[in-house]
Amino acid sequence: MLQNDLASFDAILQQVLQQGIDFLKTIDQRPTSAPHTVSLVAELEKEGQGTLAVLAEFNQRFDPLIVASSGPRSWGFVTGGATPASIAGDWLAGVYDQNPQSIQGQGDLSALIEVETIQLLLSLFDLPDTLTGGFVTGATMSNFTTLAVARQWAGQQQGRDIAKEGVGSGVKVLSATPHSSAVKSLSMLGLGSQNFIKVNALSGNREAINVTDLEEKIQSLNSEPFILISSGGTVNTVDFDDLEAISHLKKRYNFWWHIDAAFGGFAACSPHYKHLLKGWEGADSITIDCHKWLNVPYESAFFLVKKEHSILQVETFQNSNAPYLGNPLENFSYLNFLPENSRRLRALPAWFSLKAYGKKGYREIVENSIRMAQLLDAFIKESDDFELLAPTRLNNVCFTLKGEENQDKVHSFLIQLNQRGKVFMTPTVYNGKKGIRAAFVNWRTGEKDVEVAIAEMKSVLAPSA
Ligand SMILES: *Cc1c(COP(=O)(O)O)cnc(C)c1O
Repeated sequence: MLQNDLASFDAILQQVLQQGIDFLKTIDQRPTSAPHTVSLVAELEKEGQGTLAVLAEFNQRFDPLIVASSGPRSWGFVTGGATPASIAGDWLAGVYDQNPQSIQGQGDLSALIEVETIQLLLSLFDLPDTLTGGFVTGATMSNFTTLAVARQWAGQQQGRDIAKEGVGSGVKVLSATPHSSAVKSLSMLGLGSQNFIKVNALSGNREAINVTDLEEKIQSLNSEPFILISSGGTVNTVDFDDLEAISHLKKRYNFWWHIDAAFGGFAACSPHYKHLLKGWEGADSITIDCHKWLNVPYESAFFLVKKEHSILQVETFQNSNAPYLGNPLENFSYLNFLPENSRRLRALPAWFSLKAYGKKGYREIVENSIRMAQLLDAFIKESDDFELLAPTRLNNVCFTLKGEENQDKVHSFLIQLNQRGKVFMTPTVYNGKKGIRAAFVNWRTGEKDVEVAIAEMKSVLAPSA
């Protein structure tokens, strides 16, 4: 079968190409929720069927599970789409099947593409080259990677090498509204998901850190080094910690400053919203997702860590028992710089998309998403049936059914809305109230899509109309 497939490689790729074109051309009409489930097979046949036969089986059995998650009305979870250039890069990454690690010597040097892509991203976000980074599968892994280096730093401050000796206890972590994935990272890192010290958020419907409370909590640590996880865009209400104020604290206190800017970092692409990130260049590490607002296919995110911490980073991720470290930046390999050893050429979709659309293209994507959020926001503000749970600060609209008496209907409203398959949103709880979140990050979303969504919302409430 393999030899048959090799002989019909052209036909296979042509058919897959056509299927891809058909899918992308009709993505607007594809449902955003799978209409039904399928039964799964446990036994692998002895004889293979060859790719084209398998493609037919796939289309028959699994095609109904494939939803328009990269279409214009998939607004749950901050779900990004995929630009044409990013799909080109993604396909080629599979075709080329490189394993980017080293940037010098012999063999595969595709890691140079990753290094260049990180430089282009620094340029897109107007961040200094005192930072360097690499690609991982998502913001969760980016938080994990950077917090692992932060943990190594905290150990170093106490005269310990945690990578070698194990975690022990006594690494202090502070945060106000950490993303669930940062908390998950604390658990994966052995720091303990319950062990972070909760700093108050600002009062008045805010998720951003209360800097006065932060400073009091810092002082009560009596100069003990700690890790601060700050938010560059929370998922519910896209609130930003006052990064400028934190950058001033950094001059007076000894801490590792991490910013989770998974999607909020893209505010830097627009002169209208860039101020939200003022001061972020002073962070020790930053997390940014590419499969959200950069609109490249899953799995794509990157981390940034200050170059001055590269020794700590290599101590954390070195893939050798008795390494000669040398200068980790001169003798650079991603193998010693991040969790995975073998990886796909994950930077390529981002590289294609960055080059294809440039700073202007990304500014337009970001500003368009925010405009679409504002359209939904305006509808909700005027509606008798819905109300905002928080002001729409950027690209997420966090709302609920109006009236305390309708709180127990929020769940079934959302189930019905999603089931109709025209638009997809996700549930949330905010300030103790059940709510719904619509996140706008997809480059395809236009005014018509917001109109469709509003019509759907109204229909669910008035099924007979
Ligand atoms: C989405 C998100 C994450 C997790 O990202 P994944 O790519 O799903 O791993 C982390 N932090 C923030 C703020 C996010 O929005």
